[in-house]
Amino acid sequence: MKTVEPKGRLGMFFGLLAAVAVLACTAGAFTVARGEAVVAEETERYLAELSQQTTYKIDQRLSFNLELLENVGNQLEVAADDEETREAVMGAALGTSPFMWIGSADRSGLLTVPGVGVVDASGYEAVANALRGDPSVSSELVEVFDGERGALYAVPAPGDSGVGAVVGFVLPSTMELLMNTDTTDGVGFSHIVSSAGNFIRRSDNPNALLGGANVFEALEKSSDIGEGKIALMERDLLQGESGSIDFSVDGALRALNYRPLAEGGWYVLSIVPPDTYTSLLNDFIRTALGATALLSVVLFGLFGAYLLWITGRNNRELSRIAFVDPVTEGHTEARFDQLVRERMERGGAFSLVALDIGNFRLLNDRFGKADGDRFLRHVHKTVGSLLRDGEELSRISADVFNVTLEDTDALAVRSRLRAIADAVNAFNEDSDTPYLVKVNCGVYVVGEPVDMVVARDRANTARKSGEAQSDRLCRVSLFSDVEHERLLREKEMENSMERALAEGEFIVYLQPKISLETGETVGAEALVRWESERGLVPPDDFIPFFERNGFVIKIDLCVFEQVCARMRAWMDAGLKPLPVSVNLSPVHLRRPDFLLAFEEVRRRYDVPAELLEFELTERVAFESLELLRSVVDDIHARGFHCAMDDFGSGYSSLNVLREIPVDVLKIDRQFFGGGGDRAEHVVESVVDLAKKLDMGTVAEGVETIPQVEFLRRVDCDMVQGYVFSAPMPVELFEKIVFGAGRVDGSEGPAA
Ligand code: C2E
Ligand code: CA
Ligand code: CA
Repeated sequence: MKTVEPKGRLGMFFGLLAAVAVLACTAGAFTVARGEAVVAEETERYLAELSQQTTYKIDQRLSFNLELLENVGNQLEVAADDEETREAVMGAALGTSPFMWIGSADRSGLLTVPGVGVVDASGYEAVANALRGDPSVSSELVEVFDGERGALYAVPAPGDSGVGAVVGFVLPSTMELLMNTDTTDGVGFSHIVSSAGNFIRRSDNPNALLGGANVFEALEKSSDIGEGKIALMERDLLQGESGSIDFSVDGALRALNYRPLAEGGWYVLSIVPPDTYTSLLNDFIRTALGATALLSVVLFGLFGAYLLWITGRNNRELSRIAFVDPVTEGHTEARFDQLVRERMERGGAFSLVALDIGNFRLLNDRFGKADGDRFLRHVHKTVGSLLRDGEELSRISADVFNVTLEDTDALAVRSRLRAIADAVNAFNEDSDTPYLVKVNCGVYVVGEPVDMVVARDRANTARKSGEAQSDRLCRVSLFSDVEHERLLREKEMENSMERALAEGEFIVYLQPKISLETGETVGAEALVRWESERGLVPPDDFIPFFERNGFVIKIDLCVFEQVCARMRAWMDAGLKPLPVSVNLSPVHLRRPDFLLAFEEVRRRYDVPAELLEFELTERVAFESLELLRSVVDDIHARGFHCAMDDFGSGYSSLNVLREIPVDVLKIDRQFFGGGGDRAEHVVESVVDLAKKLDMGTVAEGVETIPQVEFLRRVDCDMVQGYVFSAPMPVELFEKIVFGAGRVDGSEGPAA
């Protein structure tokens, strides 16, 4: 029985969960993207506002400063040439202004600053402008006295006193008032730059990411910024345009707005992190997303729990079906295997016992199924009652039980199994007509964890190894013993095979092939037997081993030689020789020229090749159809015949029919083992097909007259089976076929 895993359901649930998660994520991503767009818009708007306000404030301040100077000019005009008054006017103006100094320039540009010094200022742009009549501010920070750089303000002086312009100088550090534009939380801020990008006034704000003397250089050097954006901004600044760009420094994203001031060609750069103003909005989005996620999780948790509950309920039901044997109410194979695997994981050796009731079929037939089941329950209960802690029991199929025993010592295992067999038979004690139940056990001692299939297989191998050998109530075979015996036997065969061959222990039996048309023997198959001191050994006991060690090659050649020798004798005796087929082990096919040896033998005995037939098993085709084809061609080229043995037992029968031009098809005996109508239809079609392909047909392993009648009806050519004759010694075969005393049996080959 197969366990229905809860995995399928869970898989479905997690699949669904994943799908919903993907959906939720998509929706979330969409919301975030939308949110980001909103944030970007908001930032831009906020920034524009900030910069507008800042610009306005600064413009006000600048014009205030210029007005202040103009005021000074007016007063200077009143003061006329009075040097002292002039100095007093300028000094008074300083007190309430951001100016570091205020001075007056004559019409040639000679600047006199009281208490500071006299300098030719005609080269300063602002001064020159003022002398020409325009109030202005220097476009860049300039140095006038002692290495101090600052902004130079200059306004024309009214009247025609000797004063041409009033000039004021402001240090960047004292532009505080002027520059008091930072946002209250200190995140956004503004710089003032010249149209060439040189800083006039840099904000002290810790978020002022841009260092150096020039904003373009700073942007280029230390930030990520879209290509061409700097050039665009440079152009805008030269042309007095405003605009905005994004940039980031060390991963911190900033939005920058530039806006021209009224004076000096100066620009205000307002900078904010994009989410400053909109952090509230962000919070909202995050909260919304979080809530959605939480809700999803809760819903799915509930849904999952429900599903698990349903699955669990169904699984309990399925488990009952999968894990409880309806006949004995004990463990099923599935459950047992689970428990045994767990036992293997716990480590330490234990025994796996496969146990069957020797004559259960008989019992079932005699007493009926209901009593049969009752008996199985009895066995189950009895065995169960004799198990110890941690030992498991299960009915695997029909009358086969599996048991684990913690004992591993052969003697201990045997004695426990004997006790079990006794207990199973205890019900006979009061009976007049005892019905003795034979308990047949195979034991595999599990040392290391192994695959359950392998473990059970070994226990079963041991169980079947000596099935028919004993009539005792309890028979126990250990896999290790069976294996051990097999190895011993193989060692023994290995040691004796060459000698056995030399001494002619491998002898040929012939099994007649009977024509269904005439009822006569029209051929035979040569089958080898080993006549050893242990008795006559059937080929199934040694051919498989000799195929593994390659000795089969010598056996086949020996059989072939004996066949050739008999044919020579038949011909020499003037008898019409019958065609004989020999088996060709697939092992030969590994040698390209293997037929040469057979050819040599045939020549030596001078037997017509067409009387000799090689039987190749269909299973060879499974390995290589091309190889099989080339071998068959070679066999034909040398004049031999070729038969396909065991046809229908492999997997590629139809391919073989199409590709391999054999002379005879030997239909495998499995078709005659009581296969019913279907098998008969197959045989009929195969015979039909073979006819069309010009092949002869031999039905193998035919045991009953009705089978013969059927085969005759479907026009099969020959029958080889116990129904007519088992394989027999050559002498007997000759007597039957040629009549008594016609062949001199002493003319065997010199082996
Ligand atoms: P196979 O070639 O299929 O030989 C036919 C087998 O079916 C023979 O078993 C034969 O005794 C058996 N048989 C014949 N009629 C009946 C029947 O009516 N009912 C049943 N149940 N069986 C029947 P055998 O002689 O024991 O040979 C077994 C296998 O050993 C052969 O199967 C063949 O594969 C192999 N073998 C035998 N002799 C040789 C040999 O000389 N060389 C090689 N390479 N293999 C051989
Ligand atoms: Ca054969
Ligand atoms: Ca066969």
